[in-house]
Amino acid sequence: MDYDLIIVGSGSIGAAAGYYATQAGLRVLMIDSAHPPHQQGSHHGETRLIRHAYGEGEKYVSLALRSQTLWDELQQLSEKRLFTQTGVLNIGPADSVFLSNVAHSASQWQIPLEKINARELMARWPQIRVPEYFIGMFEPNGGVLNSEDAVALFIRLACEAGCAQLFNCPATAIRQTENGIEVDTAEGCWRGAKLLLSAGTWAGKLLPSLPITPIRKVFAWHQADGLFSTENHFPAFTAELENGDSFYGFPSQNNALKIGKHSGGQPISSPEQRAPFGTTVSDGSEAFTFLRQILPGTGVCLHGEACSYDNSPDGDFIIDTLPQAPDALVITGLSGHGFKFAPALGEIACRFAQGHSITPALASFRLSRFKQA
Ligand SMILES: Cc1cc2nc3c(=O)[nH]c(=O)nc-3n(C[C@H](O)[C@H](O)[C@H](O)COP(=O)(O)OP(=O)(O)OC[C@H]3O[C@@H](n4cnc5c(N)ncnc54)[C@H](O)[C@@H]3O)c2cc1C
Repeated sequence: MDYDLIIVGSGSIGAAAGYYATQAGLRVLMIDSAHPPHQQGSHHGETRLIRHAYGEGEKYVSLALRSQTLWDELQQLSEKRLFTQTGVLNIGPADSVFLSNVAHSASQWQIPLEKINARELMARWPQIRVPEYFIGMFEPNGGVLNSEDAVALFIRLACEAGCAQLFNCPATAIRQTENGIEVDTAEGCWRGAKLLLSAGTWAGKLLPSLPITPIRKVFAWHQADGLFSTENHFPAFTAELENGDSFYGFPSQNNALKIGKHSGGQPISSPEQRAPFGTTVSDGSEAFTFLRQILPGTGVCLHGEACSYDNSPDGDFIIDTLPQAPDALVITGLSGHGFKFAPALGEIACRFAQGHSITPALASFRLSRFKQA
């Protein structure tokens, strides 16, 4: 057997897995169709929100907290600042299910969280306007992670620890054999005892049975002065409007505030369809109503980028071995909130390669849930 673990897709999750598995003494081969970090996957655009009181469900909280510990450890190994504790403000109508989940997660896991009404919110952050039936939940320990720097660091540390890396070389097929897994690439066929498939949006190209829908997403930087900056204590944020649209955003840097719309987007079926920002009519204007209502002090759209989500049918992650390939672990369906979990998911892949089975705590992420539906 050539390797203990072959990683197909070395972006956010694969890069972390490559580092932790190599550190654990495993013989690891990381494969990627590009050279991470890059603009072809889901990890570019400089920054990602990190939050722990989790509106998407309590099942994510232990992963988020474990990841925070690992991000803090990674920070010690970095010359650059990876994580900035800006706090994350979650805004929405008082009856929002998301906000009620945030509050529930915080109380179950003793995560610091300040609940504030609309008046208090606007007094504390005068840059924000909300209707009076809105509330805010501020998680002071949340913040902003520099995603591309984090991926670059994982890749470098894995390489320095002795990990083999085959980049700019797509995997074209994976097969379960009697002794493990084979992976075909243009550079040859590679054999490993275990496989991590972490090919993000395009995992379904290798395994068409995966229930994943690729979605084109855009995000953009808007003019916003120092009032919206971390230096002025402006927080990172998530926001839900009364029509259900949801947005996320970051404190301004160099007079530009990055914002994206979490809901919506365009289903696509090939990487070529992820056309650049500005190609779809709504690209430049999709955050306009939100900014006018909630952040009226921001200005014009300066520039934007296109990226992609991989959505599962119920919106939750997929973390499971494959029925047809028990030596393969797949981690995908991370949609628009998977980056913060990269180190914990990398650790899970490492433990899988060491022969441990998927823990019951991850049962809600199994593929079998779709058959039961
Ligand atoms: C606009 C946007 C905003 C987001 N905001 C947040 C946020 O604020 N907080 C948060 O936690 N998460 C956020 N996310 C989600 C997060 O970025 C993703 O969930 C995460 O990056 C997915 O990681 P991944 O490893 O699955 O995919 P990627 O990082 O895209 O890695 C997949 C890798 O697989 C490679 N690959 C694909 N096919 C092949 C093949 N055949 N052979 C070899 N390699 C292949 C790709 O080149 C790529 O490098 C956001 C995502 C987007 C798009």
